Amino acid sequence: MPGLLDSVLEKLREIYRELESPALREVVERAELEEYEDKVVVRVPDEYCKFAFLKEIYPRVKRKLQVSLLVLTPSEDVIFELSPKYTFKNFIVGKGNHLAVRACQVAIENLRKKSIPYNPIFIYGRVGVGKTHLLQATGNKALERGFKVIYRSSIDFAEEVVNAIKENSLGYLRDFYKTVDVLLIDDIQFMAGKERTQLEFFNIFNHLYQNNKLLVIASDRHPKKLKDVMDRLINRFEGGLVVELKLDEITKKAIIKEKLIIYGLPVDQNIIDYIAQNTGDNVREIEGFITQLKAKESLNLKPSEEKARLVSPVEVVKEVSAFYGVSKNKILKKTRHRKISLVRQIAIYLTRQVCRLPLAKVGEMFGVSDHTSVLYAIRKIEKLKKENPQLGEEIEFLKTKLLEG
Ligand code: ADP
Ligand code: MG
Repeated sequence: MPGLLDSVLEKLREIYRELESPALREVVERAELEEYEDKVVVRVPDEYCKFAFLKEIYPRVKRKLQVSLLVLTPSEDVIFELSPKYTFKNFIVGKGNHLAVRACQVAIENLRKKSIPYNPIFIYGRVGVGKTHLLQATGNKALERGFKVIYRSSIDFAEEVVNAIKENSLGYLRDFYKTVDVLLIDDIQFMAGKERTQLEFFNIFNHLYQNNKLLVIASDRHPKKLKDVMDRLINRFEGGLVVELKLDEITKKAIIKEKLIIYGLPVDQNIIDYIAQNTGDNVREIEGFITQLKAKESLNLKPSEEKARLVSPVEVVKEVSAFYGVSKNKILKKTRHRKISLVRQIAIYLTRQVCRLPLAKVGEMFGVSDHTSVLYAIRKIEKLKKENPQLGEEIEFLKTKLLEG
């Protein structure tokens, strides 16, 4: 249903205005909304927010709008389908994950030739090491190349099987799965004990495998350690590449750096080390930690944040245009011209810093559909600021000017 997310957002804003408790207001402030087909997912940062949201906010939303919301904390990240936000471009590669990344990329490169070196690819690792991200990135790459891709968590797959049995449509289900080029099954450990689901999956697996279609499976443990999963399925998994995903120290720090940029926080080696010391080998935990930092930062920076809210992206473009003598139209369009491109990247960087807009919104403003291009510009400017102090000063000057009006 189009506009569902907007309707929920509007209701939340109304509720927010009616709320008297600062603690509840904070719960609403920290909730983020996402839409998946007909579902709206509310992402909350922790269990406390989830509890408060379900108890105090959700009933108020319900009174205003007929809608079901799925409220999730970071450790309950449920993904229903392929999401364009997970790509290889934004997946940091290092010692603990390069084998798995390479295997997936090579598989996609060889899919058309029907000569995939390793199939299936079985990726296992602890929570938050990037299994879902990698599966999704593989799916998105395959999609880009025109292949038919299905991503399913094994919970969703099991539910589909149960429904198909109820509705007498198992034949359709089988046919549907047998037409794909790439099948990505996440969290296979949840198939434990579900015999009928395993059997259906086994048949689909064999069909796809024999037809040189790619299967990538993610699990929280090695195939041998899967409980209540039929031996023949485990044998199939072990017949391909079984690879563990881990988070080593260097990759962890590289990820922290990337996330600081994404969240618009200062990138500083001391901060990176501090976050690394205070988080485990779990990227989701790292993201949670940085979200907290961001929340604290915005509290400390209240006065300038209030001012910052008043700066519109149009003003940023106007200021940058005047300073560098490049027309606004040129700044807003993609270009191959080096100087204009640099000025455009500065404008993108400043829009993100000063207007505090989400990456996607900044992208929209500058006519790019994916936020990775925005990230690319931001990263490039961060780097140039360090290499070229004069440019750094210019940018800081513009930033202060914009913030202080
Ligand atoms: P898992 O499925 O192993 O529990 P996820 O793939 O859901 O973990 O990763 C958790 C979060 O961390 C996601 O937001 C993901 O984008 C991010 N993440 C994990 N690994 C990386 C990486 N190597 N580079 C960038 N982001 C990562
Ligand atoms: Mg996962």
